[in-house]
Amino acid sequence: MTFPHFAATVLGSPRIGPRRELKRAVEAYWAGRIDRPELEDVARTLRAQTWTGLRDAGLDSIPVNTFSYYDQVLDTAAMVGALPPRVQGIPDELDRYFAAARGTADVQPLEMTKWFDTNYHYLVPEIGPDTAFALDSSKVVGELEEALALGIAARPVILGPVTFLLLSKPVDGSADLLDRIDELLPLYAELLRTLAAAGASWVQIDEPALVADRSEAEIETARRVYDRLSAAVDRPAVLVASYFGDLGPALPALASTGVEGIALDLVAGSVDAVAAVPALVGKLVVAGVVDGRNIWRTDLETALVALGGLVGSAGSLAVSTSCSLLHVPHTLDPETGLDETLRSWLAFGTEKVSEVVTLSTALTAGRDAVVDALAASSAAAASRRSDARLRNDEIRNRLADIAAAGGRAPAAERRELQAERLELPVLPTTTIGSYPQTSRIRVARAGLRSGEISREEYLDRMRAEISDVVVLQEKLGLDVLVHGEPERNDMVQYFAEQLDGFAATEFGWVQSYGSRCVRPPILFGDVSRPRPMTVAWTTYAQSLTDKPVKGMLTGPVTILAWSFVRDDQPLADSARQIALAIRDEAVDLEAAGAAIVQIDEPALRELLPLRAADRPEYLDWSVGAFRLASSGVADSTQVHTHLCYSEFGEVIDAIVGLDADVTSIEAARSHMEVLDDLNAVGFDLGVGPGVYDIHSPRVPGVEEVAESLREALKAVPAQRLWVNPDCGLKTRGIDEVRASLRNLVAAAEAVRSEL
Ligand code: GLN
Ligand code: ZN
Repeated sequence: MTFPHFAATVLGSPRIGPRRELKRAVEAYWAGRIDRPELEDVARTLRAQTWTGLRDAGLDSIPVNTFSYYDQVLDTAAMVGALPPRVQGIPDELDRYFAAARGTADVQPLEMTKWFDTNYHYLVPEIGPDTAFALDSSKVVGELEEALALGIAARPVILGPVTFLLLSKPVDGSADLLDRIDELLPLYAELLRTLAAAGASWVQIDEPALVADRSEAEIETARRVYDRLSAAVDRPAVLVASYFGDLGPALPALASTGVEGIALDLVAGSVDAVAAVPALVGKLVVAGVVDGRNIWRTDLETALVALGGLVGSAGSLAVSTSCSLLHVPHTLDPETGLDETLRSWLAFGTEKVSEVVTLSTALTAGRDAVVDALAASSAAAASRRSDARLRNDEIRNRLADIAAAGGRAPAAERRELQAERLELPVLPTTTIGSYPQTSRIRVARAGLRSGEISREEYLDRMRAEISDVVVLQEKLGLDVLVHGEPERNDMVQYFAEQLDGFAATEFGWVQSYGSRCVRPPILFGDVSRPRPMTVAWTTYAQSLTDKPVKGMLTGPVTILAWSFVRDDQPLADSARQIALAIRDEAVDLEAAGAAIVQIDEPALRELLPLRAADRPEYLDWSVGAFRLASSGVADSTQVHTHLCYSEFGEVIDAIVGLDADVTSIEAARSHMEVLDDLNAVGFDLGVGPGVYDIHSPRVPGVEEVAESLREALKAVPAQRLWVNPDCGLKTRGIDEVRASLRNLVAAAEAVRSEL
């Protein structure tokens, strides 16, 4: 078979809309404010805009089916008939889909977890012995036909069967899900036939799971899958796409099959791997040289050198992004608030597409065709290298000095000092930090931004929110209070806005999960803290109550993970600079009277390198950064941390290493097994396994929470157990929160009385 090769593409696009149109439409649909045809209309318009935009920019192969109402992994589960049985009874197909994603009053949603080492969350399909795979190709075929009707050179994108099974969770006694591959293969083969019949000349099958460590058997399975799929007749050309790292031994395996193309991440991975695999001379290599995950303008000369290194090793070459542009904002266009110099260093989604086209033009038509673009890129790179904001010697010197200083006393000593100071009951109740971000709060923030209300008025309104939340917590009978974080748009951005070395965007939204978006700040220079960032709010809250109020900070690893980071120095160096700023803040909180300081590190696991060989180094610097941030306070000050997940896996030792006096974790969706895992590594500090799943609108009953606590007490002595929700409450409604926390406190009281 011969297929038309293409020269310029991207692996996927942002889908939430330049003005978050999809978020608004989906949320309006959930709230019953718009109906299904209206929702579909918004979706169709966004898709058409995306595709025509990519075509007009000059791409000659355009990904479709990268749109999603919620998540591409959930779409894949729906495509292969693997939605969980508990939603199967819901007659409407879209409602069923959203029920699997978000849960309903009586249905638990699927678990959600991070997509590789990114801050995107996918829904984890559940596959059990009763899962009977069956193909429903309507979504992908529908989007293909829609694109073809617009004259788009459409390349449907689907998640590959190997990655799909590796990311799914075995339930009801299932074990190794990859054993089910032979049930999926005929579905994928049929899908290929269907897509060819519908007019697709290429299909992209994503297999990012192959860039992590895989066993020989798993790689052999991948080889067999693509042998079989490429042997099918009447199919489109197949591009197997990898991203977020090097394929390692999976590359020769894939190259030995009959697939026509392989996409490689040449930002995270290396060009050398290509030359080492002779079989690639028969294939289209889609070279991901434009960083799809970060916002720096590509140094086009460097990228051209990389591309030059591939010539001769590949049958033909297409230029692409390293991964889907899902992970960057749509466009730099509306960011008029950024300083001009910084702006000249950046490229968002549309700008990256132009870079791809420029590079591809340089390859096909020669450098002369793009001299101006090359010169502009080099000028930006030079301006960035020489900018004074990239180096603050005072900070660098202080870090060198602190490295020599000691840490905190052993945990047992601290526990005694803290018990004396805090006088908490057994099974203390608390929350993770934020309370619902009500429309009142959003209106005030918008008013401040637009100048409609004064700074004073804004501060007053935030204080009123804090006061409400403190009163509520006292009424509910919680033991350790929080101020509720009304002043924080986002737990990372809030700090980034106040630290030197960071810049904020205005419209730089990136999908985090479902309709939730984040606006990651840009870390561009050395970090310093001009003034305290949180002290006034915490002190105000503390002035309203005799109960302890936790100071609430975001940890250095999480600030890094949820920002676009510098690519001109090791992450470890950036982490230490941020840690120093957080350390100074913790010390200021303590000086202002805080007896407890919480430093959230929900992203500790997210940055974990995909390959085991790279992990020890990461864990060393990330744990070190947390300890740098948390060890400035006295031993009598209780340090809490919060992690947003319960499958610790590779980071479990690191959690011991953090040495936080109390660690709150997610557990509501995945039961209390996590406590056994912690015991197994000798963890003996305070722990608060979430007993209220805040990812769903469901209010847990008293008995349900009490049961979770009794379950937890089998693994943890009462003296170490805390009672708290899974995570912050900011995305929930106030009525749900009130009811849920009332039940949580009642459950704690009930279980205390049984001790
Ligand atoms: N303190 C933060 C909050 O409650 C923690 C959020 C998180 O871990 N994602 O919102
Ligand atoms: Zn959390």
